[in-house]
Amino acid sequence: MTNEAVYNVIGIGVGPFNLGLAALSNPIPELKTLFLDQRDGFDWHPGLMIDHVTLQTPFLCDCVSMADPTNPLSLLNYLKETGRLYKFFIRESFFIPRKEYNRYCQWVIEQLPQCRFSTQVMDITYEEGLYHVMTIHTKTKETTVFKTERLILGTGTQPHIPSFIPKDDSRIIHTSSYLYRKEELLSQGKKIAIIGSGQSAAEVFYDLLQNRNEETQLGWYSRPDRFFPMEYSKLTLELTSPDYVDYFYNRSESVRKTILSKQQAQFKGINYDLINDIYDFIYDLNIDNADPNLTIIPNSQLNRVDNSNPDFINLEFTQLEQEVPYDQEADYLILGTGYRYHEPAFLKNIQSRIKRDSSGLFDVNRNYSIDHNGGEIYVLHAEVHTHSYISTDLGMAAYRNSYIINDILGREHYTIEKKIAFQDFDVEKYADLPTAKI
Ligand SMILES: Cc1cc2nc3c(=O)[nH]c(=O)nc-3n(C[C@H](O)[C@H](O)[C@H](O)COP(=O)(O)OP(=O)(O)OC[C@H]3O[C@@H](n4cnc5c(N)ncnc54)[C@H](O)[C@@H]3O)c2cc1C
Repeated sequence: MTNEAVYNVIGIGVGPFNLGLAALSNPIPELKTLFLDQRDGFDWHPGLMIDHVTLQTPFLCDCVSMADPTNPLSLLNYLKETGRLYKFFIRESFFIPRKEYNRYCQWVIEQLPQCRFSTQVMDITYEEGLYHVMTIHTKTKETTVFKTERLILGTGTQPHIPSFIPKDDSRIIHTSSYLYRKEELLSQGKKIAIIGSGQSAAEVFYDLLQNRNEETQLGWYSRPDRFFPMEYSKLTLELTSPDYVDYFYNRSESVRKTILSKQQAQFKGINYDLINDIYDFIYDLNIDNADPNLTIIPNSQLNRVDNSNPDFINLEFTQLEQEVPYDQEADYLILGTGYRYHEPAFLKNIQSRIKRDSSGLFDVNRNYSIDHNGGEIYVLHAEVHTHSYISTDLGMAAYRNSYIINDILGREHYTIEKKIAFQDFDVEKYADLPTAKI
């Protein structure tokens, strides 16, 4: 079936980023939009919706507030409408539970009929100046073609499993499916190994630590030389700013790569309080010098996983500074090995419209478009290499969405801050002065 309507924008994927775009474009009557998602409804990282975990970003990272605090789809309005605003006030924390964020996003979707679920995008073609988006309804299997002037790709990232990890072994799981397997892990895992130095690995380790029975031995291994915290000091947080996007974008491809390689602690570490909670929990276990039944080893690279023995998995590590190889056994291996962006297969028939850089990655324009005309195909969360790590940050989503909406409209509908940081990332203006004065 072909839907004869022509949309100005079709967003593919309704994760938080495209949901924000749907919410911010909602009050603009001249934008006819449609947002499609293959899932049956919004459910934010359900395999990691561990009790009591919170967002890592302040609640103002909701769908709309940083672009338009008066928009009725704000988190504060959600709290007001659901009778929770006073409780939120008394709680006095900027960091809401992830469960509440999930519920808030579902509430936003209830008010946006342009978000359609159970609709998977299979293919896209370009015909007579329009993109034809072929979809299949995941339940009825009905196929529909939607036509649009522009696409916004918001398909997110996928769990990353290193290529040397054996496939199809149910004893090896990624943190993204942790909660689906938690009961089994707790009841059957005598030895559980967790790999990774990021937030997900730490959350899973802490949850198992609190819920395991006494015999279950936990091992936690990380490649970096320590379990380091995410950097939240305020002058570093200034890198989460429009100024920094401009600065980063204007560097060469090779300089950007170097910058990204140095920004591990800023985006990839563990929440500072969580590290301390883990330590304090272990401290309690160790009262009277009791054995906490744990192995925690940094500086360890996992090189090989041998799953040929049905009774246990053998993990082969190297301690990188000592250059000493060592082995560990586990009943279950949990991989906190992060997420990666994969280009969606549905782009195959419009590849010729997409710009590439020297590495074959999307050559993303400053306005977040990737097409040769510079305003037809936009990406969300696929531009770390051009717009920096803050592309992954919920706190900057409203900025990016404002930028894209303004670009599509050809006018500044949403005010975009240009310089918010006290520090200068770019010194061009000083270099132009005859004498640089402090
Ligand atoms: C556990 C966890 C916690 C996080 N917490 C924070 C945090 O506190 N603060 C922060 O700033 N960032 C956080 N992040 C990082 C980031 O904000 C999230 O990953 C966020 O979900 C990214 O949103 P997204 O819209 O890019 O993608 P996703 O949420 O992954 O959504 C993509 C959607 O695209 C759909 N899709 C894919 N292909 C198709 C197709 N062919 N057709 C139709 N639909 C399709 C999928 O079904 C999915 O619903 C967290 C990440 C994780 C994993």
